Amino acid sequence: MSQPTPLLTRDASLQALNTFGLPARAAWFTAIETPAQLAALIAWPELKRLQRFVLGGGSNLVLAGDFDGLVLHVRLTGRALIAEDADAWFVRAGAGENWHDFVSWTLECGWPGLENLALIPGTVGAAPVQNIGAYGLEMAERFHTLEAVDLETGETVVLDRAACQFGYRDSVFKREAAGRSLITAVTFQLPKHWRPITGYADVARELEAPGIIQPTAREVADAVIALRLRKLPDPAHIGNAGSFFKNPRIDAQAFQNLVARYPDLPHYPQPDGTVKLAAGWLIERCGWKGKTLGPVGVYERQALVLVNRGGARGEDVLRLARAIQASVRATFGVELEPEPVILGA
Ligand code: NAP
Repeated sequence: MSQPTPLLTRDASLQALNTFGLPARAAWFTAIETPAQLAALIAWPELKRLQRFVLGGGSNLVLAGDFDGLVLHVRLTGRALIAEDADAWFVRAGAGENWHDFVSWTLECGWPGLENLALIPGTVGAAPVQNIGAYGLEMAERFHTLEAVDLETGETVVLDRAACQFGYRDSVFKREAAGRSLITAVTFQLPKHWRPITGYADVARELEAPGIIQPTAREVADAVIALRLRKLPDPAHIGNAGSFFKNPRIDAQAFQNLVARYPDLPHYPQPDGTVKLAAGWLIERCGWKGKTLGPVGVYERQALVLVNRGGARGEDVLRLARAIQASVRATFGVELEPEPVILGA
């Protein structure tokens, strides 16, 4: 196979590129650091023939096995205020920028709006793929547009919110556009008439403790950071991919049946009439919190997070995930759906 200008590596290890620390190899690998490298890659005739996977921070990924295709690791950087109007600042960042560093920078610049999403691992380019969310805010609410390259046609496209089809921890990039669209930059619309989002009990408590009544965006970010540091494992020390399951939504009748059996069931009614349940609570009630199955386990402080206790492989993670799903199904009759992308199964 002929080589394009940007150097491709054959048979590359992906272990250091996923926060779970799972071992897996890619048949082909390339890192994209500049637009020129991307252009050269697009001009490479073999590109269309290969199966492709676009990798950001690898923080929402389970490598279930080796990948017989090309992994494109996006490392495009740069961040700038590109426009403003009476209502918003428009801030653009390269897809390879670290998400938390970007959030911190916007706050330092005096542009609030992303503070509830502080400390989420991963890159700016991965944020729309998963439509990251935390503490009552989804990225889609601050999103303006993104730039992407269609790896089939080589065209650069600008996509707005509707085109991205954002849903709960979901977008078109997890479905039809997976492996086809490579996000190069994202522009956010940060509100000038900002109000803090402090409706989640944990955030409210964290702010109340030091007596903060009208928090600044920085204070909300600090509360979120303190909470996340307390409850979630740091991937630098304990391999994990954040929340492993989506919070399930069930219909009103199913909810009535369940709450009659479990009166303390945490629940959050949704605008569409369904009821959101807390997956972590269901898993904990099935006795999984802190449990170990081979080299993987359920984190002691947060039952929604599966962790690599050392030497785990993708199949170990999936075995534990299936066991948890079976327990929750048998106990509550509720299906849990994994949140991370599973590659190479
Ligand atoms: P928690 O406070 O233990 O609550 C459990 C679940 O209940 C949350 O996932 C949340 O759903 C829901 N919830 C709590 N208060 C709510 C409210 N006032 N209104 C609507 N829903 C409410 O949650 P946690 O596990 O510590 O997580 C805190 C936040 O960080 C959550 O938003 C969570 O999604 C986010 N987070 C995301 C990841 C990830 O990898 N994606 C990892 C860690 C934390 P929602 O998930 O819909 O918010």
